[in-house]
Amino acid sequence: EAVDVTKHFAVTSGVGSTATVRAVEDVTLRLHPGRVTAVVGESGSGKTTLARLLARFYEPTEGAIRLEGRLVGRPRGGEELAYRKAVQLIFQDPFGSLNPLHRVRHNIDRAIRLHHRGLSRAERLARARELLERVSLTPADDYLRKFPHELSGGQRQRVVIARALAVEPRVLLGDEPISMLDVSIRLEMLNLLDRLRREDGLALLYITHDIASARYLCDDIVVMYAGRVVESGPKEAVISNPRHPYTKLLIESSPDPHRDVALDRDDVFGSAEELGEPPSLIDPPSGCRFHPRCPFAMERCRTTRPPRAEVGPGHGADCWLHEAGRGDELASASMTR
Ligand code: SF4
Repeated sequence: EAVDVTKHFAVTSGVGSTATVRAVEDVTLRLHPGRVTAVVGESGSGKTTLARLLARFYEPTEGAIRLEGRLVGRPRGGEELAYRKAVQLIFQDPFGSLNPLHRVRHNIDRAIRLHHRGLSRAERLARARELLERVSLTPADDYLRKFPHELSGGQRQRVVIARALAVEPRVLLGDEPISMLDVSIRLEMLNLLDRLRREDGLALLYITHDIASARYLCDDIVVMYAGRVVESGPKEAVISNPRHPYTKLLIESSPDPHRDVALDRDDVFGSAEELGEPPSLIDPPSGCRFHPRCPFAMERCRTTRPPRAEVGPGHGADCWLHEAGRGDELASASMTR
């Protein structure tokens, strides 16, 4: 659980001046055993920083991380080992996650040895075989002998997942785990993650820029924009009834084979050129950070940060439209196209 977590980074320019990157601000989210929570946003939204905060690679500037109700400081020594055992992070690039000099067996065995001391060599080998079978790399003995460069991207990511499972984690954080894989195997990987979270009761955080894959895999969605959460709630509610203009933009920008009406996002959001780029996190827009791109922006959007409006059970959106009684404009703009 992240509670009001903020992460700022100090950066120094080439000429020696310093600035602050406001990567994540006031983010609260809770993961649940056996459920998948997707964090969705474009690059620069702060989602990878959030994953690293939850993995405790970074110390929050403000706010707290809790694991099963207990406050977690920056883990060190034995504490770090215990935290790593509970919370595993899968990176986007499976090749960068595996030691290229070692065979798959060694890559996995290292995790087994670190976290299950006292197992014999034969027991560790049996465990490594079992893990590869769980991620559908069979016959396992063939894969145990291979080096990472002998595997496809999808096979490498399966090895990374098997290694993560070696420590029997309770939380799995996937930072764009399928985005570097061939399109043809992405669905298989999503199905694998789905099966594993069901079998092990894992709390799974799925970070993605692709709302279609989030829609496929997750139970809950958290939408981030420019370092802040702008909408969150159960998947069906957020997808079928987005209550923040940015969520609506993400959904309409995503191909949907089930949508029988051709949507033209230019109707509401203007052309892609008019949308512009996501804002700089060094000098983000005042008030609502989405206001320079938002066709509904009002005066107060430019000056004052919107509060979270509860728009349904467990469903909230940080947008002034709701306070102003104009939330239905968003819904009707969606229905008329
Ligand atoms: Fe648009 Fe204002 Fe809502 Fe921000 S708060 S999304 S600018 S209407």
